[in-house]
Amino acid sequence: MNIGILGGGQLGRMMALAGYPLGYRFRCFDPSPEAVAGHVMPLTVGSFQDLDALASFADGLDLLTYEFENVPLWAAEFLSTRVNLYPSPLALAMSQDRVEEKTFFQSMNIPTAPFAAIGSREEYDAALLKIGLPAVLKTCRLGYDGKGQFVLRTRDDIEAAWAKLNGVPLILEGFVQFDREVSIIAVRSTLGETAFYPLVQNVHHEGILQQSRVPTASTTQELQQLAQDYALKTLEALEYAGVLAIEFFQQGNTLIVNEMAPRVHNSGHWSIEGAITSQFANHVRAISSLPLGSTEVTKHIGMINILGTIPEREFVLNQDASLVQTYLHLYGKKPLPGRKLGHVTFVADDAPSLEAEMDSYVNRMRE
Ligand code: AMP
Repeated sequence: MNIGILGGGQLGRMMALAGYPLGYRFRCFDPSPEAVAGHVMPLTVGSFQDLDALASFADGLDLLTYEFENVPLWAAEFLSTRVNLYPSPLALAMSQDRVEEKTFFQSMNIPTAPFAAIGSREEYDAALLKIGLPAVLKTCRLGYDGKGQFVLRTRDDIEAAWAKLNGVPLILEGFVQFDREVSIIAVRSTLGETAFYPLVQNVHHEGILQQSRVPTASTTQELQQLAQDYALKTLEALEYAGVLAIEFFQQGNTLIVNEMAPRVHNSGHWSIEGAITSQFANHVRAISSLPLGSTEVTKHIGMINILGTIPEREFVLNQDASLVQTYLHLYGKKPLPGRKLGHVTFVADDAPSLEAEMDSYVNRMRE
């Protein structure tokens, strides 16, 4: 089985590492010769606008998947006529535009923040009247990790945000006063089998994921069921195959969708050591029509992203492993401020030990 991955970042790299034990071969396509998935599989360097390059990449593949959602839709549609592409281009289309995505969720009776689409100054003023402050102004497309967005709290912010973002289609969202942020990692196979991981609690700073924890005491069975119901509706509506992540704001017993990612997701990285089957292994199984693996979590798991600077390996790994096991993942990327360079997973027997170890790691990193 030859599997092609569109995109050559850390997600593709971890996907291939999880797929090799099944005897599969992988190759990836990325515009950058430095793409880190190229360390573990053949890398084709090319532009997503170059149909010839894409066609020759797809030649001889049994399956194609993607690890980032900004693959141009027409390129995905073109490729899907040549080789089975999962998740479907429809999932890609829905996740590429925040207005379409929110409209799609609302059509399934899944709550979102109030929002308004903006294409002109008049529509911006009307949206501000409709939504009020505080609010978040975002580009409709190509935003990630908090890029292309601006929180509006005061009158001054209104002009500053407009000056910064206008010129492309925008969305104004009501600011959600959430209790916490959670995500569900869901998976559906080409055969229609589904599985769901326990809800993950996430902490973001400046739009970038910092920490994830699973399971958490504040996740009731009802909340888990609600997230699974929403995810199942979404998977079925999109005739989805592969891993899908949905990020929510939690307010009491309500889950409000922030966004979805039609791919393996940073808030599921903990599953490599923390679940019986990782999100990466399950993605590969799902797209290649294999039975899905168990998503059960039997310990207390935490994940902390490594952002901007790479710590010494010894520093991370030099832990007392009797209560908490620590696992280091470095992606082989060049350090740049704020860039995701790796992550650390903590596996503990109980929640207090996990918290103590994660605190100790964060404090030692600050020194
Ligand atoms: P996004 O790029 O849409 O995933 O946003 C990144 C992060 O910004 C989210 O995880 C939240 O922490 C915050 N955020 C985005 N949109 C909103 C909103 N409408 N209300 C409150 N916080 C938000």
